Amino acid sequence: MGETPREPEPKSFGNMSEHHWSRARKDSNPEALEYLRGRSAAPGVREGGSERNFYCMQCDGVIPYSPPRETCPHCGATLDESVKRYFNWVEMNDPPRSDFKALWPLLLGGLLLLVALAALALKLLAS
Ligand SMILES: [Zn+2]
Repeated sequence: MGETPREPEPKSFGNMSEHHWSRARKDSNPEALEYLRGRSAAPGVREGGSERNFYCMQCDGVIPYSPPRETCPHCGATLDESVKRYFNWVEMNDPPRSDFKALWPLLLGGLLLLVALAALALKLLAS
């Protein structure tokens, strides 16, 4: 009823206005932009790396996935084979080698209970 027809947005041609998304969001997310600029400047990024890479935890440098390396080719940091940092996540592959440290108190308690039960059974049988 009382709607007034809105003025249509100006056609998008010629120079981009200040309302274009690339300019309207120019000052948003400065932390993220600075972080990504830093990642772009990391060692090995300009060279492009290989088909599959991961990144150094210390210097952000690009490290080829294979052959496996023990140290970073850029900063020499020791690489942990079970922890790999990709572009925006870190992958930890190997579970701990053994649960023995966590389970030995239970094992010891179970053995003590068995010995106590056997001693009780022997005492009951002897009487
Ligand atoms: Zn490094």
